[in-house]
Amino acid sequence: MLWGDKRYHSLNYELKRIFGTKVVKLSVDGGFTCPNRDGTAGDKGCIFCGEEGSGEFTFSKNLSIPEQIAKQKEFMSKKWATGKYIAYFQNFTNTYGDTEYLKEKYYAGISQKGMVGLAIATRPDSISPSALDLLEEINKKTYLWIELGLQTIHDTTANFIRRGYDLCCYEKTVEELKKRNIRIVTHLIFGLPGESKQDILESVKYVSERDTWGIKIHLLYIQRGTDLHKFYMEHPFHILTQEEYVNMVCDSIEIIPKDMIIHRLTGDGKKALLIEPKWSLDKLKVLSDIDKELSIRNSYQGKFFK
Ligand code: SF4
Repeated sequence: MLWGDKRYHSLNYELKRIFGTKVVKLSVDGGFTCPNRDGTAGDKGCIFCGEEGSGEFTFSKNLSIPEQIAKQKEFMSKKWATGKYIAYFQNFTNTYGDTEYLKEKYYAGISQKGMVGLAIATRPDSISPSALDLLEEINKKTYLWIELGLQTIHDTTANFIRRGYDLCCYEKTVEELKKRNIRIVTHLIFGLPGESKQDILESVKYVSERDTWGIKIHLLYIQRGTDLHKFYMEHPFHILTQEEYVNMVCDSIEIIPKDMIIHRLTGDGKKALLIEPKWSLDKLKVLSDIDKELSIRNSYQGKFFK
């Protein structure tokens, strides 16, 4: 089984299939906050969350959305000049706020030239009924997906990482989004303290059986200055080796259904802040080792999905 040159159904492959060319995601900052940091769901945030709200590089949130997109396009055009883009609201909780405010931000994103879709990262406890209506409306106008940061299905770990909502909340939100035909991507983190390989694969199996659109696999990063960093200094725990991680990712790929889109198999840790695992900085090697391992196994996505 091959999806382009990969043995798994990558987002890159899927977007090329739909839009006929490479589609570039542009991260934009809508100035959102997070209920898990402002006291609504919690006041300390998830234990691994850094100051930027667990997102990647964005241009200043002091710029308007069109200005941020223009700058991102200029920046990304050095690498890709395909002219098709997806606006990605990633940092913090991007459905947390007044619906009129959300509407203004989302429409500002999708109305820019070359924009073919919209991606919104959020928490399942932070999508109000009126936000659901807005998402339903936008889903009819553009290629929309919603990303939910589940990280694990295990309560003990969820409590430890201070996720701030339970599995039932995730399931209810998934049902609401599915009712509206909205694509759902679930985030999982591999390597959380106290989780065995079996625990991790149970989370993957659970997500695989939800009949949702996509999955994003992250490796746990310990970032300088986070509460997780402090915990690690006081109570060192096992950090996955690259070999363990690659093997676990390949075991996961084999049990994820063929039509589920894999958005990510490793992350982009910020070098200046990364405490562990240092090997993750060589992202290309991790991805290439995953390809090699699948090839050695003569395996592919969905091989063992029942
Ligand atoms: S939900 Fe996201 S932004 Fe909020 S504390 Fe957790 S990781 Fe950080």
